[in-house]
Amino acid sequence: MKLDDVLISKAIIERFSAKLVDCLESDVAVVGGGPAGLVAAYYLARAGKRVILIERKTAVGGGMWGGGMMFNQIVVQQYGKAILDDFDVRTEPFAEGYYTADSIEAVSTICSKAVKAGARVFNLISVEDVMLSEGRVTGLVLNWSAVMTAGLHVDPLTIRTGFVIDATGHPAEVATLIERKSGEKLDTPTGVVIGERPMCAEAGERATVENTREFFPGVFAAGMSCNAIFGGPRMGPVFGGMLMSGKKVAELIMQRA
Ligand SMILES: Cc1cc2nc3c(=O)[nH]c(=O)nc-3n(C[C@H](O)[C@H](O)[C@H](O)COP(=O)(O)OP(=O)(O)OC[C@H]3O[C@@H](n4cnc5c(N)ncnc54)[C@H](O)[C@@H]3O)c2cc1C
Repeated sequence: MKLDDVLISKAIIERFSAKLVDCLESDVAVVGGGPAGLVAAYYLARAGKRVILIERKTAVGGGMWGGGMMFNQIVVQQYGKAILDDFDVRTEPFAEGYYTADSIEAVSTICSKAVKAGARVFNLISVEDVMLSEGRVTGLVLNWSAVMTAGLHVDPLTIRTGFVIDATGHPAEVATLIERKSGEKLDTPTGVVIGERPMCAEAGERATVENTREFFPGVFAAGMSCNAIFGGPRMGPVFGGMLMSGKKVAELIMQRA
């Protein structure tokens, strides 16, 4: 059979458009495909929720690919290991309570399981705004990352969703957007994004999980954004907190949705 170049294009355009139209309404929209966002998407999709994950870059995985300073190994504690076990990611004990995993295996496996569980991932798309109605976030405003990078004058599109997860890492982009544009207070001790504190792995890991919660009606923090929003310490290349936070946010939303 001879390959038809235009038929290839038609297949891509039709299938992608159908997927996008199908995702214009969802139960949960995860912003950011780092470890926290991917883990959240997996548990929510596995529970039957309609989950869409928006990732700005070409590849999901966020900061996990690079391990620590490009040494592509990650460290997790016992509770992080339990989540990696859930995903069938192999771990090796290093010292009492410390386990390592290959970051490439971790990202690729977690992503694969999330997609196979039913999460719909859209890469190369950025969240540039939220939709607000009666004091609650009801959707997201999306544009191609390339359009935003080039500063092109192209209007965005919108999606409606039940809950949003800000899993955008250090910049806490959803929280920052809401604070800047809504004029409303966030549910933090100061009413605004506090900003993360200096490195302390022990306190940072704890704070990430404790601060995994709703900070604005309809919007939850997960992963590193929790530390940025609530003023927790950064914690260096230990990833158990990110995994736990992704699982916790999924559980919190499942109690509500
Ligand atoms: C300069 C730098 C320093 C770091 N230092 C530390 C450190 O000291 N301690 C530490 O724990 N971690 C650090 N990290 C990040 C580290 O990799 C994280 O621990 C971990 O990856 C965070 O996981 P996460 O899932 O919360 O977010 P990330 O892995 O950061 O993933 C967030 C994802 O969200 C995407 N995203 C962001 N905004 C949008 C948007 N508007 N629309 C769509 N997608 C979006 C990003 O492209 C990214 O893929 C650092 C990262 C950077 C870049």
